[in-house]
Amino acid sequence: MTTYNIMLLPGDGIGPEITAEVRRVMAWVEKAHGVTFDVSEGLIGGAAYDAEGTPLSDETLDRAKAADAILLACVGGPKWDGKTAYDKRPEAGLLRLRKELDVFANLRPALCFDALADASSLKREFVAGLDILFVRELSGGVYFGEPRGIEDLPGGGRVGINTQRYTDAEIIRIARVAFEMARKRRGLVHSAEKSNVMESGLLWREEVTKLHDAEYSDVKLEHILADNCAMQLVKAPKQFDVILTDNLFGDILSDAAAMLTGSLGMLPSASLGDGGPGLYEPVHGSAPDIAGKGIANPLAAILSFAMALRYSLDMGDAADQVEAAVSQALNEVRTGDIWAEGFDRVGTTGMGDAVLKALG
Ligand code: NAD
Repeated sequence: MTTYNIMLLPGDGIGPEITAEVRRVMAWVEKAHGVTFDVSEGLIGGAAYDAEGTPLSDETLDRAKAADAILLACVGGPKWDGKTAYDKRPEAGLLRLRKELDVFANLRPALCFDALADASSLKREFVAGLDILFVRELSGGVYFGEPRGIEDLPGGGRVGINTQRYTDAEIIRIARVAFEMARKRRGLVHSAEKSNVMESGLLWREEVTKLHDAEYSDVKLEHILADNCAMQLVKAPKQFDVILTDNLFGDILSDAAAMLTGSLGMLPSASLGDGGPGLYEPVHGSAPDIAGKGIANPLAAILSFAMALRYSLDMGDAADQVEAAVSQALNEVRTGDIWAEGFDRVGTTGMGDAVLKALG
């Protein structure tokens, strides 16, 4: 029997509640697919700070690094906001984890479940069936480039500096992820940059084209300027399959696309590096306003587990089953964040029940 080591990091706020539902789905997959999940649980964020004096201990980090996949829920909350040293704030634990794992590829699906098409900010016909995968570079670009800072100007006044910087190697490794993903999907990559006004964008376009021509000519490649990409996302989003882009544009474009799909409580993500464990987490935060009330939507966390099945555990069939069960559950019940007339309103456990019922 295959055994996978899974690290669970429930974190803060609604984290423990939604993680409990993920555990139930994990148990179903174990039974249905004859695998064992050897689960190791750890503290991160404010919970870790309270218990261990640091938002991510070395011991937890070591266990995470040894796992096959890491399922993180969410961190943060008013209990710690502005009340801990900057390097001890809950988010510092998450940033350390991402950095230590060297995850450079952030995968964010923008998937519109048919049952939720009416909850989108766009009309149903534009979003029903929407299935975009963002491949965002996560460890380079303007968020990390040097020089950076705020400096005084000699003649008075100040200047804020950030540097957009990408090496050819950084571009090639993220482009490779996008082409590989496209091969498993509909075979189309849009590469978004600003090569018309930025040299880093020009290099991006050249390197993506070279890699495509050398190794991925079976995938269709389209270059698109990032501003046009933003317009097309709200004009005709279904034209996209995989969108490959840098850290900054990816941050903004994937958030815009997320809103096409209905709710924050539905959005999973994966962050992958070279060889190490993948990190899987919902896009939403710890929702302190509803923590402990048993009403949080667990579907983003469950869909993040489905991504782990697909990308880290090579269990694509199980991932398909979990995603189909989520889709089916949405036809019957809704948590408050996605509730609509005519549906039973359920809490976190009720939504877990509906997913398990759909799994059979
Ligand atoms: P948030 O995502 O926690 O919440 C925004 C709104 O969406 C809230 O009204 C919340 O109730 C709702 N919401 C979020 N997830 C939901 C779910 N699963 N089901 C139902 N409703 C849901 O964002 P915020 O309020 O800006 O931040 C709260 C805390 O979370 C802050 O401390 C912030 O730093 C942290 N945060 C953490 C992460 C992370 O762990 N990756 C991401 C974003 C924010």
